[in-house]
Amino acid sequence: MKSSEIREKFLKFFESKGHTIVRSSPLVPGNDPTMLLTNSGMVQFKDVFLGLDTRPYSRATTVQRCVRAGGKHNDLENVGYTARHHTFFEMLGNFSFGDYFKRDAIAYAWELLTKVYGLPAEKLTVTVYQEDDEAYDIWANEIGVPKERIIRIGDNKGARYASDNFWQMADTGPCGPCTEVFYDHGAEIWGGPPGSAEEDGDRFIEIWNLVFMQFNRDEAGNMTKLPKPCVDTGMGMERLAAVLQHVHSNYEIDLFQALIKAAARETHTEDLESKSLRVIADHIRAASFLIVDGIIPSSEGHGYVLRRIIRRALRHGHKLGQTKPFFYKLAADLDKEMGTAYPELTDKLAYVQQVLKTEEERFGETLENGMKILEAQLVKDPHKLDGGTAFTLYDTYGFPLDLTADICRERGVTLDEEGFAAAMENQKRTARAAGKFKMAANVEYTGAKTSFVGYDQLVFDSAVIALYANG
Ligand code: ATP
Ligand code: MG
Ligand code: MG
Ligand code: MG
Repeated sequence: MKSSEIREKFLKFFESKGHTIVRSSPLVPGNDPTMLLTNSGMVQFKDVFLGLDTRPYSRATTVQRCVRAGGKHNDLENVGYTARHHTFFEMLGNFSFGDYFKRDAIAYAWELLTKVYGLPAEKLTVTVYQEDDEAYDIWANEIGVPKERIIRIGDNKGARYASDNFWQMADTGPCGPCTEVFYDHGAEIWGGPPGSAEEDGDRFIEIWNLVFMQFNRDEAGNMTKLPKPCVDTGMGMERLAAVLQHVHSNYEIDLFQALIKAAARETHTEDLESKSLRVIADHIRAASFLIVDGIIPSSEGHGYVLRRIIRRALRHGHKLGQTKPFFYKLAADLDKEMGTAYPELTDKLAYVQQVLKTEEERFGETLENGMKILEAQLVKDPHKLDGGTAFTLYDTYGFPLDLTADICRERGVTLDEEGFAAAMENQKRTARAAGKFKMAANVEYTGAKTSFVGYDQLVFDSAVIALYANG
């Protein structure tokens, strides 16, 4: 089943259950200054959940474009390492604003998965929040899922990708217990059911999360009840496509294969399994859609998320031996795959390519030179990259810290992040003493467009802090 059919079946199913089809909102949330980028379907409805906004409908369904490359949900470091994470992905969702609750939400999800999409029931495992007996009973007694495939999950903080059945959009805002549906891709793939010691593997892949929105968390961490209990669900379109196309990894679905082939063509790479090709294919989607939604690469905020994504892709291109601009060309291949679903991409294609190409030209030379410095340093010490070099790469060569960290991770080298922070601090002190800001080579002053908020903000913007927080 192709992605277009998957989207359509989802929306039509929920429309038949009285839901209004609502368009995807842009990647920059219009209603929430605390949130950098839209990370889930519920973001555009946040105020409706909080009772601050009303809509002419109490049930809605969407295919929402999302980016998870910073903030509470950050998957940048997972891309290229797992079968299921992207920076940009499409989330299929259905929402109830004080209308139906757990019973209908679960029944709809089951009907859609097993009847409309035809997934074999025995391949599905579900989780419920530890104390949520109500959800447990619905799955066990009304739907008839065998008890050995209903798993209670608390606040599981152990495993790297630990399932935790209490969903939060961010540190503040609407939240609540959830129930999730996992698909078992088979014993030949390493991994165990959610909550088990092997859950970090990719055998059981989470496909759908049904959140029972009941609380609003404030800055002090206090939870108050929402005016009405609501439902917010999200299913990754690419993960469902993998299941429906009988492949394991998201990167094997039709859409990604086309992008991977295009990336191979532009980088003259024969090995289609190359991790770098997967990263490039992922990043062309995120970068292009961020540009479509009005973001341009810069040194802070949204623009820095975009810059980090583009530069990571370029570094992977470089790793594949690419020295000339290539990344921008892939936007046309993306348009072939996604332009029908997102006409705004087709409309702005030339602009997207121009923005990407400019950033490629800007970074191309410093990337080459920075890599030489990095390699030379690693010859001196093959186990550790010192903070001073990481800072030089950042400051003079425009290497975002996460890009350097990615190279170190690939090579099993420890990155001295403390040394980096110290070098940064040192430079700030010197600049202060000199009574003026010394602008770093990779930091551009965007004049009237962005207010210059000072050096701290430029460097430690929220996206970078999130990267630190996510280790
Ligand atoms: P995971 O545990 O696999 O990281 P999650 O629990 O963080 O996923 P949710 O926040 O529950 O994901 O989001 C709802 C759904 O969106 C998930 O069940 C999944 O299908 C999809 N999804 C989440 N993150 C990604 C991603 N980075 N790339 C692709 N799909 C995703
Ligand atoms: Mg996640
Ligand atoms: Mg999860
Ligand atoms: Mg989840």
